[in-house]
Amino acid sequence: MNPYPHRTEWCPRCNQGWVEIRKEVERGTLFVRCSECLVQWHHPAEAKDLEAGFRNHYQEAVEPTSDEIRAKQWELYLVEPQG
Ligand SMILES: [Zn+2]
Repeated sequence: MNPYPHRTEWCPRCNQGWVEIRKEVERGTLFVRCSECLVQWHHPAEAKDLEAGFRNHYQEAVEPTSDEIRAKQWELYLVEPQG
């Protein structure tokens, strides 16, 4: 099974991990985060900007569902299109 089903790109910041879509538990907000350096961004498109991104803005997060990703039209950013 793919450990990063919702990855959007290889991290441009650390070059060691995947940027993936996550969902913050408390607010239910989707964001993207690198699996290795843990830098976060509000939007998948922002992850290409080396000056953007922050740490610890979003708290505890889980894997979002495909429906939640589609609701924001973020499936367009996925490396592997969802069925
Ligand atoms: Zn990274």
